[in-house]
Amino acid sequence: MIISDTGVPERHIAYDEWGGETMLRLEDGWCSALDRETFMCTIYENRPWICREFEMGSYECREERVGLIEITQTDT
Ligand code: SF4
Repeated sequence: MIISDTGVPERHIAYDEWGGETMLRLEDGWCSALDRETFMCTIYENRPWICREFEMGSYECREERVGLIEITQTDT
């Protein structure tokens, strides 16, 4: 959810069924602002508040990474 104005470019914004602004996800399910080759945020200075709060290396971050690894390994 985009809950404060940090300057997210319109091309990366989607709207949920209640009209709330969210980050657009592409067909691969990942945020449209993510560079697929470098895995870096292409709008880092304008990223949403929640992205600023999600601490790299935190418990939640590590849990997400473990989940992605498991998904990747079951796909192969
Ligand atoms: S930090 Fe990640 S989720 Fe947030 S806008 Fe950037 S690419 Fe998207």
